[in-house]
Amino acid sequence: MFSRLAMVSMSSSTSGLVIPCKAAVSREAGKPLVIEQVEVAPPQAMEARIKIQYTSLCHTDLYFWEAKGQTPLFPRIFGHEASGIVESVGEGVTDLQVGDHVLPVFTGECGECRHCKSEESNMCDLLRINTDRGVMINDGKSRFSIKGTPINHFLGTSTFSEYTVVHSGCLAKINPLAPLDKVCILSCGISTGLGATLNVAKPKKGSSVAIFGLGAVGLAAAEGARISGASRIIGVDLNPKRFEEAKKFGVTEFVNPKEHDRPVQEVLMEMTNGGVDRSVECTGHIDAMISAFECVHDGWGVAVLVGVPNKDVVFKTKPINLLNERTLKGTFFGNYKPRTDIPSVVNMYMNKELELDKFITHRLPFSEINKAFEYMLKGEGLRCIINMED
Ligand code: NAD
Ligand code: ZN
Ligand code: ZN
Repeated sequence: MFSRLAMVSMSSSTSGLVIPCKAAVSREAGKPLVIEQVEVAPPQAMEARIKIQYTSLCHTDLYFWEAKGQTPLFPRIFGHEASGIVESVGEGVTDLQVGDHVLPVFTGECGECRHCKSEESNMCDLLRINTDRGVMINDGKSRFSIKGTPINHFLGTSTFSEYTVVHSGCLAKINPLAPLDKVCILSCGISTGLGATLNVAKPKKGSSVAIFGLGAVGLAAAEGARISGASRIIGVDLNPKRFEEAKKFGVTEFVNPKEHDRPVQEVLMEMTNGGVDRSVECTGHIDAMISAFECVHDGWGVAVLVGVPNKDVVFKTKPINLLNERTLKGTFFGNYKPRTDIPSVVNMYMNKELELDKFITHRLPFSEINKAFEYMLKGEGLRCIINMED
């Protein structure tokens, strides 16, 4: 522990010192977050301390805040979609420096394990997502405390704090010219949907793509289809309100399964003369997953599952669907390796190949963070950007 005295005598830099700052602490499931003063310890080996500039809210925050069906871990600092600037680095960190612009990512890339060494995988053995861990892997302790009591981390990121400590393998160093109030949304949901299409479904120019679920992740998958030059992008959702917003994302046709008295895959097969070339499922619901697979064309169709299902559900389909040369795939974080690939996704935005502004529907100062939870609970808008300095 460093004393306040030390802080005064080294006022030119906060490096190596405990930083007192504001954080939105969640003390009880489903209850509003409380902005409190927390102490953020310096980063240890292979960690970096980040000054968060902007954060947004994603469904995973909401899900663990509601704590329905998972292990509740409170008090906790949520937040995992964000942008920030490196304030200091711990021992052994060689690829990050003070002042670097970074996106923290809920899953990491150690660079050493079999997954990191494989071109095909982003499922790092060391830093893969762990929703039940509330401490840093280096020493099993939290870097956050309030009057000596530790506060749990979330997904190794905890971005609802002015300062946070993150493993350096979970930080994508990005183009310093990129606007942090926009590219922060590439830290989770948008990259997930975009990568599902660009890296996994890989539609050819002129092809047809069905997107199941038109939330932020599904619309990011649609953005991937637009970038790929798909000629038909068919949006499937149970909520007709989603269709209006989806028009801005190049979705050309809409299907609401509730409006049909036969399985939606049959409707799609009829619309496309035998099936779509690609489908991307972004709902997390098993019926949509099965439909997404069964609506692809035989011979070449590829279906990609992105939504996170209830852990007990079972995927059932006739094996003949596979024998007829359809492919079923699933993906995690759009198959992107956080450190290797996310900087180039940021550059896609900088080069105007990728549109991000249309995902940002709300902005709030940090003091009003609870309103972002309300928007998400009501299903209002896509992404709400929270400015940490307001
Ligand atoms: P969202 O709730 O905003 O959107 C989901 C949409 O699906 C809603 O519009 C809903 O009306 C629609 N829907 C639900 N059931 C449907 C059905 N049977 N048929 C058609 N539409 C249906 O969610 P989101 O933030 O866009 O996230 C989508 C999914 O992606 C979630 O399951 C989330 O957990 C998952 N996700 C996965 C990863 C990953 O790495 N694989 C990462 C982030 C998010
Ligand atoms: Zn997320
Ligand atoms: Zn690894």
